[in-house]
Amino acid sequence: MTQPDWAPDDIDIDRPSASRIYDVWLGGSHNFEVDREIARQTELAWPDSVRYARANRAFLGRAVRFLAAQGIRQFLDIGSGIPTANNVHEVARRIDPAARVVYVDIDPVAVAHSRAILRDDDRTAVLQADVRRPSDILDQVRQGALLDLDRPVALLLVALMHFIPDSDDPHAAVASLADGIPSGSYLVLTQGAYGASPEADERIRELYRRTPTPLTPRNREEIERFFTGFELVEPGLVNLPDWRPDPTVEVDDRFSGALIYAGVGRKL
Ligand code: SAM
Repeated sequence: MTQPDWAPDDIDIDRPSASRIYDVWLGGSHNFEVDREIARQTELAWPDSVRYARANRAFLGRAVRFLAAQGIRQFLDIGSGIPTANNVHEVARRIDPAARVVYVDIDPVAVAHSRAILRDDDRTAVLQADVRRPSDILDQVRQGALLDLDRPVALLLVALMHFIPDSDDPHAAVASLADGIPSGSYLVLTQGAYGASPEADERIRELYRRTPTPLTPRNREEIERFFTGFELVEPGLVNLPDWRPDPTVEVDDRFSGALIYAGVGRKL
């Protein structure tokens, strides 16, 4: 297969990636047949995959609008993914055009495409970095000087932490990031929980082991622990379609149980 011009030269196009699988579900065009195949196989094990991916993206938009309404104008979006509709800077700027966003991802396609579309935008920056190295991220953000880390920031870790295994101490990584931002900042986090059956969970985990970022589902208590030092805003940690649903959008009541938790917390 020939390499499309949006794909960096050094990526392995025979290996699926989480960012490109998510892009498949969001209807994007930055994915390969290997990604589409994992997406299809995942849908067989978990038919709600597409609706959850879209509900996750919709939650991100609602959370950014909520934070912008609280006066937040700086966003640090880690695990930001391949840009698609309703990127964080676009949503925030509908409320205040001065909003600033630093996008961070480990995936070369996500980083390359973000840089390509934001090349002329001086209120956004794009870093290739790993959430497991929080001090590197904070150092780079400070050096870039786009965000003022002495003033409240929204730290977005949306559909990211289930890619960090327990052996890499994800709670310590989030705690270090939280230490780097002041009181009055916000944490926005979604994370996959255990699914309908142990067999389906194991099948999905097996599929994601083929990517560079295997999946680690967590239970509610483990997910709530990410918010240590933050006060969850209403309605707390909930199944993601239930987080402040938009009254103008019809609620999809086919979601059953919390398979992806979502929460927004304010730093104490
Ligand atoms: N946050 C976006 C959203 O919710 O719409 C994109 C979520 S996408 C499912 C997860 C992203 O996390 C992917 O782009 C993947 O490359 C990125 N990711 C996975 N492990 C990472 C890590 N260790 N550090 C930074 N990004 C990572």
